[in-house]
Amino acid sequence: RRAAASLGRRLPLRRLGSDSAAPCGARFDVVVIGGGHAGTEAAAAAARCGSRTLLLTHRVDTIGQMSCNPSFGGIGKGHLMREVDALDGLCSRICDQSGIHYKVLNRRKGPAVWGLRAQIDRKLYKQNMQKEVLNTPLLMVQEGAVEDLVLTEPEPGYPGKCRVRGVVLDGSTIYAESVILTTGTFLRGMMVIGLEMHPAGRLGDQPAIGLAQTLEKLGFVVGRLKTGTPPRLAKESINFSILNKQTPDNPSIPFSFLSETVWIKPEDQLPCYLTHTNPRVDEIVLENLHLNSHVKETTRGPRYCPSIESKVLRFPNRVHQVWLEPEGTDSDLIYPQGLSVTLPAELQEKMITCIRGLEKAKMVQPGYGVQYDYLDPRQMSPSLETHLVQRLFFAGQINGTTGYEEAAAQGVIAGINASLRVSGKPPFVVSRTEGYIGVLIDDLTTLGTSEPYRMFTSRVEFRLSLRPDNADSRLTFRAHKDAGCVSPQRYERASWMKSSLEEGISVLKSIELSSSKWKKLIPQVSISVNRSLPVSALDVLKCEEVDMDLLATAVPEPLQKYTADRELARRLKIEAAYESVLMFQLQEIKEVQQDEALQLPQDLDYLTIRDVSLSQEVREKLHLSRPQTIGAASRIPGVTPAAIVNLLRFVKTTQ
Ligand code: FAD
Repeated sequence: RRAAASLGRRLPLRRLGSDSAAPCGARFDVVVIGGGHAGTEAAAAAARCGSRTLLLTHRVDTIGQMSCNPSFGGIGKGHLMREVDALDGLCSRICDQSGIHYKVLNRRKGPAVWGLRAQIDRKLYKQNMQKEVLNTPLLMVQEGAVEDLVLTEPEPGYPGKCRVRGVVLDGSTIYAESVILTTGTFLRGMMVIGLEMHPAGRLGDQPAIGLAQTLEKLGFVVGRLKTGTPPRLAKESINFSILNKQTPDNPSIPFSFLSETVWIKPEDQLPCYLTHTNPRVDEIVLENLHLNSHVKETTRGPRYCPSIESKVLRFPNRVHQVWLEPEGTDSDLIYPQGLSVTLPAELQEKMITCIRGLEKAKMVQPGYGVQYDYLDPRQMSPSLETHLVQRLFFAGQINGTTGYEEAAAQGVIAGINASLRVSGKPPFVVSRTEGYIGVLIDDLTTLGTSEPYRMFTSRVEFRLSLRPDNADSRLTFRAHKDAGCVSPQRYERASWMKSSLEEGISVLKSIELSSSKWKKLIPQVSISVNRSLPVSALDVLKCEEVDMDLLATAVPEPLQKYTADRELARRLKIEAAYESVLMFQLQEIKEVQQDEALQLPQDLDYLTIRDVSLSQEVREKLHLSRPQTIGAASRIPGVTPAAIVNLLRFVKTTQ
């Protein structure tokens, strides 16, 4: 990092707009194409690793743009954000400077699967992200549309039929040792409303045609996917008074390990409201299918964030939730989450106004769909370098994923690896046992995807150890040692937390009292008073009703000092809760490996069987392929290792 900093002083790389550009023939270590959620993380990560980096994107003023929902995080996605943050990525810190409604999802379940989520002020996020990116040492930003790649003979000793040497924009060449492509929905993007279709990457942005053609000519397997976004509504036209109000959490749990609090107090955060669709919505959708070319298209859309048309067609006669989410503290817009639609604009208005609370709602911008090219992610190694073209990396929606967090997670890994490749160091790969990022990339590169892929806790086998609270202990030290991409401030905080947790746990174990003494000190504690053996403070902390504050009131000395840092106190409680079950999980991992060849009953009806927990997606794939063994099932693309664990449990109990 010292070398990088001094290089940065010699070559003060900061932002450049269209008026001042890198000259033709300029040389960089890493060039990143696309300033979306993958591209910003990739560029910043490469620069943090010490590479002279150029971020090329259509428009500097769209850096940090949230193309769809004004929110970050959620179930599984919140884990990705904590891991991106542990690698010193940007999005979590920027969210903590821009969030306007923090709410942890899945609270009723254990903290291992809590989904940290927040509504984000779009404008503020963009401003803060642009400020961050434009002030990153060693990172230069330039506007432009990259049209082509510069390719040369392959380097001996590496797979691949050629090597990338740079990019072409506006007819001039910029050279690079590594190139990262993060073009999102822009490769041959087509925007759709009703029967109208025209080329666009997203509303108001041109598509990337030349790059798509180059990739196809190179022999990359290209597929087509689609997604969509809801209309935006005028806030003052909605009757919130008759709707259910959702208030934010108090206190807010920040996304970043470096944020003690978020920028806005819970009492100043904005509420969300809930309404529902009704049979009239279904009628409008069904009566007008012939006017809706996006729905007729056979390309796959997002299974877990479907359009209202797909919901009506797949689940007829059901009522669907519509969350009315604020877009910002000074925004007049409301985002109706769950109402993604591509009907002609006038029919969208008609549909909206038959929903409770939206009877007089004004549509400010219609919903629309986007169809775009993606590259089969099995064409990449887990470092996200492509097999076909050496030193070319792909990250984000281009790989068939959906969502800002999935894009950011791939971006940070691609950025680190593009930089490591330049310096000839081994790749930085996160395994399935280390993080959700590992699961995401392993799923993509081994199984591929035929529909927009999003992260879920159910995709992860080792959920109890891969928790949002401990992402720093899993990743920050490795990222510091193997990639050099972690700031001293973050490294110090993670080190302090690690030693404080170790010390705290050993102190908690060392405090032993009889259960009757504990009962006297903490009457609400649910431990048996008949036990003759002494009970440790760590075991008492495992009780649901006990937290560090309560424990420290009972035994102020020496426990008081572990409550001053709120995150430390929270994490001690979580560590205590999972202490015993984690050993069980390690055993389960071994069992999965041993039993890989176990036979599956051939008469199993995967579509209807209730005794085994499988997602609909997995059920359909098993139904189609009818595997003979667990091993065969695990090789079917889309049948996740988490599903295999569940199948294994099922087979064992029925045999
Ligand atoms: P993007 O954020 O799209 O960024 C791509 C960047 O590349 C842009 O800045 C663009 O200007 C730049 N670029 C492209 N080509 C070039 C070029 N040739 N030269 C220079 N720059 C270039 N996600 C969900 O989770 N749920 C949803 O329901 C959902 N709906 C969506 C609906 C729409 C209409 C769109 C457009 C996106 C939607 N998304 C949704 C996806 C979400 O926006 C993306 O997953 C996320 O933004 C992907 O990040 P990315 O960095 O890969 O791409």
